[in-house]
Amino acid sequence: MILVLEKGITQDQKNNIRSILFKEGYIVREMSEAGQNIIGAVGKGGKDTDFFEQLPGVAKVIPISTSFKLVSRQLHTEDTQVQVGDVLVGGERITIIAGPCAVESRDQALTIAREVKRYGAVLFRGGAFKPRTSPYSFQGLQEEGLKILAEVREATGLGVVTEITSPAQADMMMKYIDVVQVGARNMQNFELLKCVGRIGKPVVLKRGLSSTIEEWLMSAEYILSEGNDKVILCERGIRTFEPYTRNTLDLSAIPVLKTLTHLPVIIDPSHATGIREKVSPMARAAIAAGADGLMIEVHHDPDHALSDGPQSLYPKQFGQLTRDIYVIAPVIGKQLDFDYLDKAKAVDHLSKTNGTGIQRAAFLGEIGTFSHKACTQYFGNKVAAVPSPSFKSIFESVKSGEVDFGVVPLENSLTGSIHENYDLLLEYDLRIVGEITLRIIHHLIGQPDAGFNTIKRVLSPPMAFQQCRQFLERHAGWDLVPVKDTAGAVKEIGESANPADAAIASKEAAEIHGMEVIEEGIETNPRNYTRFVVIGIDRLEKGPRRKSSLIFSTGNQPGALYDVLKIFADNGINLVKLESRPIHDKPWEYMFYVDLEAEVESEAFKPTLDLLDDKTDYLKVLGSY
Ligand code: PEP
Ligand code: MN
Repeated sequence: MILVLEKGITQDQKNNIRSILFKEGYIVREMSEAGQNIIGAVGKGGKDTDFFEQLPGVAKVIPISTSFKLVSRQLHTEDTQVQVGDVLVGGERITIIAGPCAVESRDQALTIAREVKRYGAVLFRGGAFKPRTSPYSFQGLQEEGLKILAEVREATGLGVVTEITSPAQADMMMKYIDVVQVGARNMQNFELLKCVGRIGKPVVLKRGLSSTIEEWLMSAEYILSEGNDKVILCERGIRTFEPYTRNTLDLSAIPVLKTLTHLPVIIDPSHATGIREKVSPMARAAIAAGADGLMIEVHHDPDHALSDGPQSLYPKQFGQLTRDIYVIAPVIGKQLDFDYLDKAKAVDHLSKTNGTGIQRAAFLGEIGTFSHKACTQYFGNKVAAVPSPSFKSIFESVKSGEVDFGVVPLENSLTGSIHENYDLLLEYDLRIVGEITLRIIHHLIGQPDAGFNTIKRVLSPPMAFQQCRQFLERHAGWDLVPVKDTAGAVKEIGESANPADAAIASKEAAEIHGMEVIEEGIETNPRNYTRFVVIGIDRLEKGPRRKSSLIFSTGNQPGALYDVLKIFADNGINLVKLESRPIHDKPWEYMFYVDLEAEVESEAFKPTLDLLDDKTDYLKVLGSY
């Protein structure tokens, strides 16, 4: 049951409730859900809900109607995110776990680990205790295999995942491994479930070969009831009458689980299909269906693999797949971040050097703006997101050191550049240290009792109006009131409590302020993407540097721009953006902003940079990222 606590509950009242629950033998979890303080109590005490409703400090008692309790979304409405080192499973970044079916040798594991890391995996998988159908098949390298996995982590920085097949392996797992996997064949091995619950390491819990979703969630309940909340559910195909694939991948389990449980869900298309060619299509579908990640078998020499060679992707195929996932993820509001681990290290390094231990990043507007989302998707939960009233104030706070980073939009695929930020990049001596692109889905948001008929005014920033032009033209009678940011607009209409007021903003902003979505997806074109850059004072020590941004001006003579562009052409450098901006105080003179695919501050680029210096009147490197 869920005990919703009164707002003004005293500590004594809370202690009293907790001690009664403990006495009655309940498992107790205290949490804050959507601004309410609640106590989740699971067990079968003798008292009924009325008894608890009478206790001082309890506002109401809600029974949990499902057989699984701790894993239920009724108890915990927000998504659980499982932290594995720098990796957060279940957040807005897609988690890719990849590696061979079995660890076969040090060389094999290291070779594959380096390949999968290069192509975007953030965790490495490899079995050391293999539950094989035949006792005569390769059974795994056992402890030797675990030692190799630990070496892989040392060498690559990838956290390692492996299957535990017996409670007797618990100590070894504690010593060598980051995530333990409970395999399909052991999903209902209750002693093993209790064991992984007690050891407290993150767990990948695979769905049993012939298990229902409810049985699977009950198995997760075993782990949580032992005090371990770090459970990742992994659908890996179920037994059906269909022989063309090894198993039948139940992708509908994703949306079903997402309503039933708060736990993250990943998909293993390798064991689900058993056939190399079928793995990538199902992996792409899984991400489109809302999976939080993938577990993929990859082998550099699958013909000689000691297990599951026919379903293992070649590293290059795996690379193609992650490129596809990179494109698909923003469509459903997520990211595949190829620089996930490097970035985490870079930010970590910064925290050690600035002495505070915490980084802060400023973004425009209130919590729930797209800038806020860009900030949390870029940094994960490592950096505190700080609301800021204007773009200029973001640049100021970064300059003064009040925050470590700023996240600002630079261009939108429908409406073009955000010139104010281009001008600020010129004015301030700050650097671009990263970038992130988000799909922008706008919603019409109003009071819970509002509808098209009651609306008279719509609040949002001018850019959102532009992006929703066609929709707004169909409602020409509405007054468009420009405000600074989308989430601020929702907050304002929430405060006015007037059914005539609506806002255009993200779904998250509506949820945060308890407002209703009246119409979803009202942007004119669904291919509405905004590119944000992350700014800082210094370059990130270890950050990735694939792309660079420059600003330059040339003399006012024929061929001046051509001379500069020729340098890029002669050196085989691809420009991904070129835009001119007027120079303030010099009418009809222009600065050029370029993005190029090169690391301009590297030794190798130095001769090119010297040439550029020669041919330009002004040259500023904004950063490589
Ligand atoms: C595995 O991941 O290597 C494995 C044996 O998977 P499953 O338990 O899903 O068969
Ligand atoms: Mn396998």
